[in-house]
Amino acid sequence: MIGDIVYVNGQFVARDEAKVSVFDHGFIYGDGAFEGLQIVNGRVFLLKEHLKRLFDSVRYLGFEIPMTAEALRDIIVETARRNGLRDGYVRPIITRGAGPLGIRNMAQLGPPTVVVMCQHESIEGRREKWNRGITAQVVSVRRVAPAGFDSRAKTCNYINNILAYLEAQAAGAETALMLDAEGYVAEAYSSNIFIVKDGAVVTPALGHILGGITRSTLLGICRELGIPASEGRLTTYDLLTADEVFECGTMAEVRPLIRINGRTISNGSPGPMARRLHEVLRGMMESGLHGEPVGDA
Ligand code: PMP
Repeated sequence: MIGDIVYVNGQFVARDEAKVSVFDHGFIYGDGAFEGLQIVNGRVFLLKEHLKRLFDSVRYLGFEIPMTAEALRDIIVETARRNGLRDGYVRPIITRGAGPLGIRNMAQLGPPTVVVMCQHESIEGRREKWNRGITAQVVSVRRVAPAGFDSRAKTCNYINNILAYLEAQAAGAETALMLDAEGYVAEAYSSNIFIVKDGAVVTPALGHILGGITRSTLLGICRELGIPASEGRLTTYDLLTADEVFECGTMAEVRPLIRINGRTISNGSPGPMARRLHEVLRGMMESGLHGEPVGDA
């Protein structure tokens, strides 16, 4: 269920009143950046890390968020609080702003648009997928190359990911795996990818992927637990011959992939490494040690 209160350019308004201009560059060109954060037990998980990525994404686009990180943090927390959100998803979106049509007129745009919205999410639907594992398809759509734009920036342009998802869906799979321009595994349409082989964990290196916050949290967990983990180059061969494959992301958390391109991975059920890493990640989330409290509505 979508939250009833939305923050738009300085005001908290009812969902039906939450509007931005049709001249907004976010609407016309996808010219903006966003974040997706999870709220667990009334705390925003890893808020500082998400804010850092958002500020970097916007800086990469060549404009500035019109407030400090502290001010934006307070707005994110306040949006969640006003919606009484104890468990769910918060999305801040920053666009270059509204003004005359045409890329060459960017200097005449108004201030950047700032929107924060949220959505209640129960854990049950997600838990079913964690327990069952999901199906994936390596699609023909390639992850946009950094020479086009750098996928470390989480921009409002998700066409690449949407086309990948549509192709996977048409093939009857639940998630889409994208290769990079050279044919190495990049990431899923909205999550990062890991494989497990002979007790070691491997994930594609940065370059053609979003620097996922869950991805780096899991790499940190592996370091702490003494699980061998590396960043490298993977191909479809590595996926199909892995002991385990899983995707990870803010809401996906750790989601095992049990079939890829119609082929069963290992014995076709979620594996022990994915389960173990997920338990530790969940423990971090539920400990409240890494989250900003939302407070009582
Ligand atoms: N890759 C893409 C393309 C994504 O949209 C996401 C979701 N933000 C991720 C990876 C996972 O990143 P995170 O762990 O920061 O949610």
